[in-house]
Amino acid sequence: MLQKNTNACRFLKSSLFCTLLLSVAMLGKAQGPEIPYFYNSNTTLSWASAAVTFKSGSAMKVPFFPVVKTSRSPFGTDDYSRDINIEAKVFYVSNFGTYFSIQSGNENVTGRAVLLGYDKSVDTVSLVDAIYHFEKNGAAMVVLYYPNEQYPYKRFLNTVLDSIDIPIVTVSNKSANDILTAAGYDIDELTENLKNGLYPKAAELICSFRLNVKGSFSTMSSQYSLIRFNRELIDSLDIQNTLKINDDACAFLLGLFKPLNPKLEQLRITYFSDYDEKLFFTSHFGSGLAAANGIYSVLGAIAPSYELAVHELTHKLFSSNWNGNCSFLSEGIAMYAQDMSIESNANNVATYNYLRNNELMPLSKMVNMDIGEDDNTKMGYYASGSFVQFIIEKWGQKAFLDLWKTDREWKQIYGKSLTELEQEWHNWLSKNV
Ligand SMILES: [Zn+2]
Repeated sequence: MLQKNTNACRFLKSSLFCTLLLSVAMLGKAQGPEIPYFYNSNTTLSWASAAVTFKSGSAMKVPFFPVVKTSRSPFGTDDYSRDINIEAKVFYVSNFGTYFSIQSGNENVTGRAVLLGYDKSVDTVSLVDAIYHFEKNGAAMVVLYYPNEQYPYKRFLNTVLDSIDIPIVTVSNKSANDILTAAGYDIDELTENLKNGLYPKAAELICSFRLNVKGSFSTMSSQYSLIRFNRELIDSLDIQNTLKINDDACAFLLGLFKPLNPKLEQLRITYFSDYDEKLFFTSHFGSGLAAANGIYSVLGAIAPSYELAVHELTHKLFSSNWNGNCSFLSEGIAMYAQDMSIESNANNVATYNYLRNNELMPLSKMVNMDIGEDDNTKMGYYASGSFVQFIIEKWGQKAFLDLWKTDREWKQIYGKSLTELEQEWHNWLSKNV
């Protein structure tokens, strides 16, 4: 289960999901489709679609990728609480700076889908300002493309835009041309004009743009967890099981660490059925993301197990109550709790085997190891769990917490040097396997 893989590094910083991701990465799975997958006209999404439409009923499918807010939800979904079902006349703006200087920028865009071509090499106004302008003037949504780039994948982590919530989606340059073709533009002529800085006057087009996104998620909660998910894509029984595993793990941890009287806030998790769905909604690759306002994860990327839940929640419990610490102590306490939760002696047995084979690294090296990035990550996981168990069984949890609040001040807390502790640990190990 535990094996070095560099793909996990960036997630380890957040502590959460480290072992889950290590396991997933070990299976050799990719972290999700590449972004062009969403801009491909052959791709269909079961939870979202877009099209150019005419009153007659004819329609042309338009592949797109949504722009995501800081809260890791697509613009227009109000943090997973709203579906997007909009059909609006297209209002074409080929260059925002020109639009604003030549026209007044006060054209009526109310209720329109603004098709905005943004060329950062020539546009004099920032994209954030442009989008903010249209939202303030009542636009129903913004369809963004970059005339000089095929794929305009864009993620706004911007507090100004965080205050608005109209849908913002991106389409490829090709799709933008398809939309303009549908509206009767001669693309060759238009491209030539744009190249020469001759921007057509912004105007309402003869066609509409329809956007549908299943953005309202179901919510299920229990004492310790609140879970959001799309009921059409994930079986609520799976969510119920996950809630139970999380609750059992939380109850176990509150019991295990009772002497420290920790608090455990309700865990907020948004689950996705697969990598593509998670990428679409969060603009984040990979199976898990621990953000300030919760966790975003692919359900079933690895079968959720009780002991892994204990491991991950130990990270959360310690960091939320007493901040972080070095990799060795963070993983150590999580591996310790993991073993305790299933009455396993795996950490000690594995560590003792390294010791017996003269492979166990000196403790002075391991306490500085970045577990997850180091070549000896597997050893680091087991040995940290074993060492933490040793110091907790010998000197108790309160002393461990005192140590946690320092930067590895062994002598100050335990009255012994690391080398002395190491010797005692090795002796203890031989009696505990
Ligand atoms: Zn961990």
